Amino acid sequence: MAKIRIDKYLADAGFGSRKDVKGLLKAKQVTINGETCVHAEEKLEPAQDVVCVQGKMVVYESFSYYMLHKPQGVVSATKDAHEKTVVNLITEQKRRDLFPVGRLDKDTEGLLLLTNDGKLSNDLLAPGKHVEKTYYARIKGMVTKKEVAAFAEGVDIGDELLTAPAELKIHKAGSESEIEITITEGRYHQIKRMFEAVGMQVLYLKRLRMGPLYLDESLACGEYRKLTTEEIQSLK
Ligand code: URA
Repeated sequence: MAKIRIDKYLADAGFGSRKDVKGLLKAKQVTINGETCVHAEEKLEPAQDVVCVQGKMVVYESFSYYMLHKPQGVVSATKDAHEKTVVNLITEQKRRDLFPVGRLDKDTEGLLLLTNDGKLSNDLLAPGKHVEKTYYARIKGMVTKKEVAAFAEGVDIGDELLTAPAELKIHKAGSESEIEITITEGRYHQIKRMFEAVGMQVLYLKRLRMGPLYLDESLACGEYRKLTTEEIQSLK
């Protein structure tokens, strides 16, 4: 791993802003391998060097991974001038470099992964990887085998290409239907536009799965937890 500055290291590890961290350094509260460090520019190797603050060893994770049960009404962004973002919901967030892996619409609920691991995010979102995403939805109108067949074929949602084959399972069919759909792409408003293409409207949408990662149903809407080591490994 590349060397990084002590002020960035401590800020990432949750010791406040770089300004806060400078205060700790000035006050001689920080040691690197037992030597007092007062210079914010000093560099260290996170995987090797031992850093202590006020005599306590710092546990530094280079990457963080959170599973959020996204509620409606928040936007999938890191910053927004007017709206609350998914990153704002991670209140224990020590790191200031988390971002959501892909987007869910403001009115979509469910599984959203937040991380600062750019490579993992790129891999999960790369069109060529065809990572499966499963959603539960309530649909206005009667969903039938006709729509199951149409989605399996691919539908025209106004893009250059038809949608890739998607698996549609009907849980309840009636004037309002309940379905589960698995897609392998991540086009803008994809599921809403797929149903529009067959003359129907999505009333409610919730993501249940992304690749091997399932929404932890013990998380209430708006709650989050760190991924387990097994979950992180399964994504790589
Ligand atoms: N498809 C949609 O239409 N919206 C989402 O948020 C996700 C998939």
